[in-house]
Amino acid sequence: MINVTQSFLPPQQEYQAILKRAWDNAWLTNRGELTKELEGKLKEYLSVNHILLLTNGTLPIQIAIRGLGLTGEIITTPFSYVATTSSIVWEHCTPVFVDIDPDYLTIDETKIEAKITSNTSAIMATHVFGNPCHVEAIEEIAKKHNLKVIYDAAHCFGVRYKGNSIFNYGDVSTCSFHATKLFHTGEGGGLFCNDKELEGHLYYHHNFGHIDPYTFYGLGINAKISELQSAMGLAVFPYMDEIIENRTRSTKLYTKEFENSSIRTLKIREGTTWNAAYYPVILKNEETMLHCLNELQKNNINPRRYFYPSLNTLKYVKYQSMPVSENISKRILCLPLYYDLEPEVVHTISTLLKHIHE
Ligand SMILES: *Cc1c(COP(=O)(O)O)cnc(C)c1O
Repeated sequence: MINVTQSFLPPQQEYQAILKRAWDNAWLTNRGELTKELEGKLKEYLSVNHILLLTNGTLPIQIAIRGLGLTGEIITTPFSYVATTSSIVWEHCTPVFVDIDPDYLTIDETKIEAKITSNTSAIMATHVFGNPCHVEAIEEIAKKHNLKVIYDAAHCFGVRYKGNSIFNYGDVSTCSFHATKLFHTGEGGGLFCNDKELEGHLYYHHNFGHIDPYTFYGLGINAKISELQSAMGLAVFPYMDEIIENRTRSTKLYTKEFENSSIRTLKIREGTTWNAAYYPVILKNEETMLHCLNELQKNNINPRRYFYPSLNTLKYVKYQSMPVSENISKRILCLPLYYDLEPEVVHTISTLLKHIHE
């Protein structure tokens, strides 16, 4: 089966050599040397001001909401992974949805202001498939209405926008290092912010609020990454340029294949150095999409309906009609994309899909 993704696995002996350091130190978690080393390497590679590694990509969203003291309504996108919305609800805030741009698939910045009320505390948007939101417009709206901005940047490892790391936008950005993501630590995640004071404040939240063993800064949770996870990150890290290069080659091949077809591909925002994290295609309608999915699966090709369903339809949120997001989520598929996907396989998948879709 050719799956939508395959985790990149570094040579096992390289992983073991790094793990041995954890053994030799008998130090398995609580910010050991492997975690600090990985943070240092990522900080430089990504050109970010502050980074905090965490045990997954959902806790940083929750910590950001909690740490920024958000209450009431948070304006957000219905087109994302469930963790974006569920984190808002989990933190006892109310998601207020704003529909997406039909080309970029990110929150439609022109519709945000109409949803702001006296209860709005923040905007939380997702850089969908590594495609940046209109960060300038969002920053301007946030400034004008005194709102905080959190970016769910789970898909954005290595993405640059106008030469700057996409993680440097907003009050806080978060990333996921889950096994299915571009860069991974098995399970893992990161939190990024520009402000040193805010970084210190958020830091305590990830470790029970500890200042030292017996004094507490305030309320906290346990979101620490372990040395075993960081070891995987250190083993994967040296391959990142090659991984992104290979995937970029595959996405270019896909785009060429679909050029003169009725299959729509993702429009990347101008000024973006993209990371080829996903390859979504938008098909005619839901019926055609289901037919294509079924036929591809019969041929041992397993794309993923992603994102589906549109998050405004979750049963624990108040339904608000989001025509664009609901429509796109019913007919989008992410095609197989991973490090060693062969060009012939890209050709086979696209030829088959075009044939079924026409
Ligand atoms: C993967 C993902 C998350 C959650 O990350 P985990 O590491 O799985 O907790 C959040 N938001 C988006 C958009 C994601 O794709």
